[in-house]
Amino acid sequence: MKISELFNKGKTVFSFEVFPPKKDSPVETIYSALAEMAELNPAFISITYSAGGTGGAKESTIELASYVKNKLGIETCAHLTCLNSTAADVRAILKDLNGHNIENILALRGDKNPDVPAADEFHYASDLVRFINVQGLGFCVSGACCPEGHPESPDIIGDVRNLKKKVDAGVDFLTSQMFFDNTKFYEFRERLRLADIAVPVSAGIMPVTNKRQFERMIMLSGASLPAKFTQTFSRFEDRPEALADAGIAYAIDQIIDLISNGVDGIHLYTMNKPAVARKITESVRSLL
Ligand code: FAD
Repeated sequence: MKISELFNKGKTVFSFEVFPPKKDSPVETIYSALAEMAELNPAFISITYSAGGTGGAKESTIELASYVKNKLGIETCAHLTCLNSTAADVRAILKDLNGHNIENILALRGDKNPDVPAADEFHYASDLVRFINVQGLGFCVSGACCPEGHPESPDIIGDVRNLKKKVDAGVDFLTSQMFFDNTKFYEFRERLRLADIAVPVSAGIMPVTNKRQFERMIMLSGASLPAKFTQTFSRFEDRPEALADAGIAYAIDQIIDLISNGVDGIHLYTMNKPAVARKITESVRSLL
């Protein structure tokens, strides 16, 4: 099923994101995690794509997406980046996805990596969106968006103009980068309306459940961290169980507020942790 058909039915589209394990991690773990997540009956599970020529990236994304769709019977969305790919590479991947009955793609540019030269055929995600649609294989295409602006963008208005180009290239729905301050998301929705961007937007929610993740968030994320967030985590940073509970409660709080404000979808960055996905899903299921 095309994920775009799930929106506008008066329900919040509640989905999970999972990443393929690193090469040296046991592969069985991800299959049992996916099976546990499937029991929670999300609208779909998306599988990330690791670009940069690490080998096997394409295969693991397609393999896991196929497992979710064809073995677990849950809808899936395969992420696909384009910066390091040629048109021939992408054409082959699309054929492969189609052959595995995968109907939804999150079309991304990918991060620039100085160690991996770009293929110089696709420059922006919008090039990939257009390319996918031209192939005529009938994919539903999602695009990424950053409520607080993409880190490379010099200004937030220019970023929305670029987003408009991407949507006009044929995006069916948007999936947002994580954010921790819902007011930033609501301001972003206003900018979308001003720019005549009318496709549904799923809000990316990342439950932060351990100290390492919290520190990475402070260092790497371009997302604003409200005082409520930093205070909570500073208070519990040396109590792992309390920190996990606080992180889950924070995410639930964000989700309740978003649903109350009519969000189209919630996309949960599960970090491959079914127990976290379960706690959050069970707390908000009746609200969806
Ligand atoms: P784009 O939409 O191309 O935007 C990138 C930058 O270029 C922005 O600053 C934008 O304003 C600018 N821009 C766009 N079009 C134009 C134009 N025509 N002219 C000038 N400037 C322009 N990465 C992975 O490697 N694998 C994944 O699986 C993955 N999944 C993700 C899932 C989500 C929901 C999100 C939000 C991000 C994900 N990423 C993933 C990260 C993503 O690859 C990076 O954010 C990347 O830096 C940009 O990708 P994009 O698709 O947003 O790019």
